[in-house]
Amino acid sequence: MGKEKFIIAIDGHSSCGKSTVAKDLAKALSIAYVDTGAMYRSVTLYALRNNLIINGKVDEEKLIAALGNINVTFAFNASEKRNETFMNGESIEKEIRNMEVSSHVSLVSAIGAVRKQLVEWQRQMGKDTSLVMDGRDIGTVVFPNADLKIFMTASDEVRAQRRFDELTAKGEKVSMDEILNNVRERDRIDSTRAESPLRKADDALLLDNSNMTMGEQFEWIMERLRERNLI
Ligand code: C5P
Repeated sequence: MGKEKFIIAIDGHSSCGKSTVAKDLAKALSIAYVDTGAMYRSVTLYALRNNLIINGKVDEEKLIAALGNINVTFAFNASEKRNETFMNGESIEKEIRNMEVSSHVSLVSAIGAVRKQLVEWQRQMGKDTSLVMDGRDIGTVVFPNADLKIFMTASDEVRAQRRFDELTAKGEKVSMDEILNNVRERDRIDSTRAESPLRKADDALLLDNSNMTMGEQFEWIMERLRERNLI
């Protein structure tokens, strides 16, 4: 007997495979998956397209005023067998993963009013349905009463290598150094920002997957869900 409605919160460092395991869980359990990083990335893309980020500085006032114009939704693309992010109906899945967005997203996500709005949308999504949500502040801020909280991490080098493989497979020309710097810089900004910094919730379980396969991580989390009688 499982629980009728439950929330799984997965937080952790950049590029440590949170979304891969979260998607696998959502599929196996037939529950929704919400990629909150994609939401911050979408707002960043909006800011870049509308020239609201100039020389690494965000025009906070204009961006905050524009938040009401940004509607981020998710859908499963059956032919490509993957989740897709939409902004105001346009598929932006590919664009939000590029280096341009990656290198500005931590600036945007450090803005308190942006976080406040996105957290509200995220809570709304989990109001009536079970879901697995991944990000940086899910267990600490968005759902402090989540039924299971996982804090994932892996060594910097392992994470950079995974991101490098992912981007080069998509045909993006990037260097390993550039990626390693981006991973470290995002972690630094995310962990030291004043507004809901990245940290492990006291009651979150630590999962260091440097030496684990995807299958092992998946099974590890499934076992924690069984222990708690959630499934
Ligand atoms: O998860 P992903 O790497 O796509 O997230 C991109 C960025 O969005 C992070 O580096 C972080 O700055 C921000 N983020 C956040 N809070 C979340 C999810 C993502 O600040 N819940």
